[in-house]
Amino acid sequence: MSVPLYDAHNHLHDEWLAPHWEKISLQLPALGLRLAIVNGTNEADWPRVLEFSRQHAWILPSLGLHPWHVGNRSPSWIATLSSALDAAPSAAVGEIGLDRWMTDRARPDDPRLVGLRRAPLEEQRDVFSTQLALASAHVCPATIHCLGAWGALHDTLRSAPALPTCGFLLHAYGGPAELIKSFADLGAYFSFNGYFLDARRARQLDTFRHVPPDRLLIETDAPAMPLPSLWRTHKLPPSPEGFAINHPGNIEATYTGLAAFLGESLPSLATRIEKNTFRLFDPRISPP
Ligand SMILES: [Zn+2]
Repeated sequence: MSVPLYDAHNHLHDEWLAPHWEKISLQLPALGLRLAIVNGTNEADWPRVLEFSRQHAWILPSLGLHPWHVGNRSPSWIATLSSALDAAPSAAVGEIGLDRWMTDRARPDDPRLVGLRRAPLEEQRDVFSTQLALASAHVCPATIHCLGAWGALHDTLRSAPALPTCGFLLHAYGGPAELIKSFADLGAYFSFNGYFLDARRARQLDTFRHVPPDRLLIETDAPAMPLPSLWRTHKLPPSPEGFAINHPGNIEATYTGLAAFLGESLPSLATRIEKNTFRLFDPRISPP
């Protein structure tokens, strides 16, 4: 059964997908993908995200400075981001956020962090707050990444002078179930990632029972966060560094896996996700 699919968070412009992009760009609409929110993570990739959104009507651009890239930002990053948002009224803000894994737990030689200065949490927080204010001023939703810093994220959002009025997305929500209500009261939506279908991620999967029905979205984060191999309907060869690459076509399996977990029919879940995606990213897009 095919249903309309929405990928609330990914990085289709990523160089890991580049060798396969021609094929993928045809596969996704054929699968029923109606919309993908493609997130830039640093100043260098923002033009590429905008270019992708010009080439494909089903791509909505999102621009932001990801916590991994905070330490290498240029002095003019705010002006660049602000004028890019002015020039692209459909754009959202993201991927932004807080990451304590990078500062406290990542190996010094992790190939994904090579060449990046690892900004301490306080510095990440400043840059995150600035971007929340930009999203608020530009009246667009924000997409937030958080690893190991849920308390700090909660504090930052609660004390922010202004949050985006249309709401914000906590992508691949892996925080405690107890914080969901408070985040939702602040305007949060929560996206489910198929990575949580892994038996070792049972806690994160179970958390999604507590997400309010009208705040649930679905994402792949492709090429990151691969599904357990049992669930992978679409496969790609590993990255040059040997990391598994998540094919964005696995969005369909992500829907199927979540529907099975929630005990909900696929069409019912898909209808709900469609409504929620439009509500958060409206007025950037209009329902079909
Ligand atoms: Zn991401």
